[in-house]
Amino acid sequence: MSTGFRFDRLFIGGAWVAPIDGGVRPSIDPATGQPWGDVAYGGARDIDAAVAAAKAAFEGPWRRMPPWERAALLRKFADLYATQVGALAEVETRDNGRAVRESRGDIGLHAQYYHWFASLADKLGGRTIPMDDSVHAFTTRHPVGVVGAITPWNVPLMAAAWKLGPALAAGCTVVLKPAEQTPASSLALAHLFEEAGFPPGVVNVVPGDGPVAGARLVEHPDVAKISFTGEGTTAKTILKAGADTLTRCTFELGGKAPHILFADADLDQALNAATGSAWALCGQSCALGSRVLVERPVYDKVVEAFRARAARVRVGIPLDPATHMGPQAHQQQLEKTLSYVSIGRAEGAELITGGARIDRDGLADGYFVEPTVFAGVSANMRIAQEEIFGPVAAIIPFDGEDEAVSIANSTPYGLAAGLWTRDTGRAHRVAARIEAGMVWVNTYRYIRWSTPYGGVKASGWGRENGIEGLDPFLETKTTIVSTTGTFADPFAN
Ligand code: NAD
Repeated sequence: MSTGFRFDRLFIGGAWVAPIDGGVRPSIDPATGQPWGDVAYGGARDIDAAVAAAKAAFEGPWRRMPPWERAALLRKFADLYATQVGALAEVETRDNGRAVRESRGDIGLHAQYYHWFASLADKLGGRTIPMDDSVHAFTTRHPVGVVGAITPWNVPLMAAAWKLGPALAAGCTVVLKPAEQTPASSLALAHLFEEAGFPPGVVNVVPGDGPVAGARLVEHPDVAKISFTGEGTTAKTILKAGADTLTRCTFELGGKAPHILFADADLDQALNAATGSAWALCGQSCALGSRVLVERPVYDKVVEAFRARAARVRVGIPLDPATHMGPQAHQQQLEKTLSYVSIGRAEGAELITGGARIDRDGLADGYFVEPTVFAGVSANMRIAQEEIFGPVAAIIPFDGEDEAVSIANSTPYGLAAGLWTRDTGRAHRVAARIEAGMVWVNTYRYIRWSTPYGGVKASGWGRENGIEGLDPFLETKTTIVSTTGTFADPFAN
């Protein structure tokens, strides 16, 4: 292992400890189907130890630390993070198979997320409330306490940045539980928190199985909040499990984003975005435009362009910087994607290109699948309704704005949407009618630390990033002070 990080211990209370309930097991490289490193995983008692450490840190040094000192530590961590982009990208790519050119690009932005949240740490004041002269009323904001951060396998470090940045800026402490398929990069992150000099217990990292370690984190009475990114079915389990302790939850869940191409769009640019989005992360991202809605006058042209551009996608070993698209992140995801190819065919959609596992030399043992395009898809087909999470574009023809909006809103999801048109009025009309947490106009997947991100409908609760991204980690206290010190006797008459 060239990165210099160790993965065979849990990071709890500022120390690298052997699991009590878990052990060490291989993490699988999806490009080869073979183990690439040994990674520690914990069970319920490890989570208990991590929560105890996080609680002690919250009640102790972290709560007492002035916010500008918390900010300075976060900035120091962010600077360290920036020096480790290559190593972190290598670890993440080993674990989840994302093409390293993409991992580097994404991870290369994370330090700025941490810097941005650091800059808010000492600006989280409340407000004064206009009242009559007899009282002075004001609010103050306080960290909720210990946060359980539960992350998915597709973007482990990005999900961690979106949770840890605001949680730490708000003054919370954190137990991070990464997905079982991709635990290593979160342990690498722990090294950087250690090196930055965070007090022990402020950040704890415990990989482990969802139904064991994740479930214990959710049920734990000392966890004030769960910040979760993953599947809707898991979110429902978490909500039920957290009911007894009334644990606050925010959920970043799945998507089936419509990417709408009107006939008057700048088609070259729109196609760059639409094809890039269909196959980025090998299709494994919640906000990708997996449904491509195309206005009929340009439908044939767009279908042909998708076919031609699929042929240009270089599928290969993800650590090769020339590779555009790596494998699916794990075997179950490969099987899921291939099963949706069969479903699409059976539903009568037209398979334009792709659809098969790649068995050429050097890739046959990995979980590689061809960039895939279905055309002639109708809005009610399963491949247009359900999240596949593979490199499968479903092209759906439409006529006019009303039909575009109706198709766009026809799934249970509402995370993201994109639309391309040269008509400014139409851009605003359509954007306003789409049920989604975010809409991109004449661009796609532009996301920054300052732009709130999250879904409506089955895509989640709450927002990450932006100033709104801090709200879930804060409580508001209202204080009302009498300016006279008098209180009328209610029983005088
Ligand atoms: P998942 O729900 O299977 O797992 C996510 C996390 O939850 C993992 O850490 C897992 O161990 C944990 N978990 C599983 N069961 C649990 C339980 N009973 N209690 C507590 N924790 C439990 O999701 P996944 O397959 O890892 O991720 C893919 C999903 O994530 C897709 O649906 C994708 O759209 C979604 N996602 C959403 C966003 C977003 O921002 N909206 C971003 C990335 C991924």
